[in-house]
Amino acid sequence: MTFKDLGLSPALVKAVEEKGYTKPSPIQEKAIPHILEGKDILASAQTGTGKTAGFTLPVLQYLVETKHPKYRPLRALVLTPTRELAAQVHDNVREYSKYVDIKSTVVFGGVNAKPQIATLRSGVDILVATPGRLLDLHDQKALSFKRVEVLILDEADRMLDMGFVRDINKIISFMPAKRQNLMFSATFSNDIKKLASGILRDPVSVETAPQNSTAKKVTHKVYKVDKNKKTEFTIKLIKEGNWNQVLVFTRTKHGANKLTEKLIKADISAAAIHGNKSQGARTKALKNFKDGSIKILVATDIAARGLDIPLLPHVVNFELPNVPEDYVHRIGRTGRAGAAGEAISLVCSEESEYQSEIEKLLNEKLKSTIVAGFEPTDTDPPKRAASQSKGSFGKKNKADGNKPKSKPHFKGNKPSEPSGRGRTSAPKKKRY
Ligand code: AMP
Repeated sequence: MTFKDLGLSPALVKAVEEKGYTKPSPIQEKAIPHILEGKDILASAQTGTGKTAGFTLPVLQYLVETKHPKYRPLRALVLTPTRELAAQVHDNVREYSKYVDIKSTVVFGGVNAKPQIATLRSGVDILVATPGRLLDLHDQKALSFKRVEVLILDEADRMLDMGFVRDINKIISFMPAKRQNLMFSATFSNDIKKLASGILRDPVSVETAPQNSTAKKVTHKVYKVDKNKKTEFTIKLIKEGNWNQVLVFTRTKHGANKLTEKLIKADISAAAIHGNKSQGARTKALKNFKDGSIKILVATDIAARGLDIPLLPHVVNFELPNVPEDYVHRIGRTGRAGAAGEAISLVCSEESEYQSEIEKLLNEKLKSTIVAGFEPTDTDPPKRAASQSKGSFGKKNKADGNKPKSKPHFKGNKPSEPSGRGRTSAPKKKRY
């Protein structure tokens, strides 16, 4: 199967070939034909599967084929939970649209809105945005959703976790009812299914991996270690293993800063990435980590979400997440593209219930090891894990700084809206 076989135009095929892609990834192979037909999609796909090209390429093709010769209203909107993911998706959109006459831009909070407003006013076909800033800009009349024909919700599960549901519904309420909706999510809780049923119309389900499964080539390792020994233990692992590129997860921003400082003191190059850091600092940390000028990136769950860091050999959970699904997201960063990866968790007595919840979700016992000199002595009782069935939806990530605009709640969820671009086979020409 080639990109051409999927029905993509020569200009788009040329752009992906220039990126060095030789064949479509499984999600692209499954999703692109349905999206080209104008169908709604509910896709289970993590970052690293090629999902961004999976939705961008067919949407670009549609936009090109139905473009108005003079008028350039906003016709496709991609919503993402984090600024990093928005920037990343937009980089991809720009690259794939290199040989077509489609304009795109990205908007997110934490940076000056004025240039964003100017670009929007000059006319864009496709916009990538985080919900909060997008609504602010809409309030300021910098853009209109009246001509939106395709809505893409990327990492919808994380948007729910971050409490963006009300914002999403508000944005949708400004759009025409007749549109195509594409929803991507790494995990499928009942809350996600509920959100999907309110937005998608007769969606085609596209799955590339079993639900909530972890990448196959990931080895899980648990080290039982006392809470106050974790920093020392992490330094030992990094130094003795001679590790050069490690993503370390902490549960809080403060924890991320503290660990980063200690790593630097131990002569290990490191940077923290979390919601309290400025956008510039976050972008710089990510760039330095990707190009190898720093070895360790210490991140909170939200900040790390959706980061495209290929072929990461090690992911360390300095603390286990209290929501088991977050473990799946975290380790999605290792063992990618067929390469083997190691997911290492440092678990103290307080976290034993978190571990059993993760094991239940994975349906796999995680192998625990005790290392000489680090024998656990903690006797603190286990903290309660947040079970997904109760809804990660109800949880707001206070630990991070990506401020949700509103409390999550489902009442605002609109009843099943009619949607779909209203075409079933080949796109109709010029509909303006
Ligand atoms: P995504 O899951 O969209 O974040 O993509 C993960 C990575 O895979 C990105 O670096 C893409 O550039 C890359 N990628 C996407 N599609 C393909 C493909 N068909 N072949 C090889 N790499 C790809």
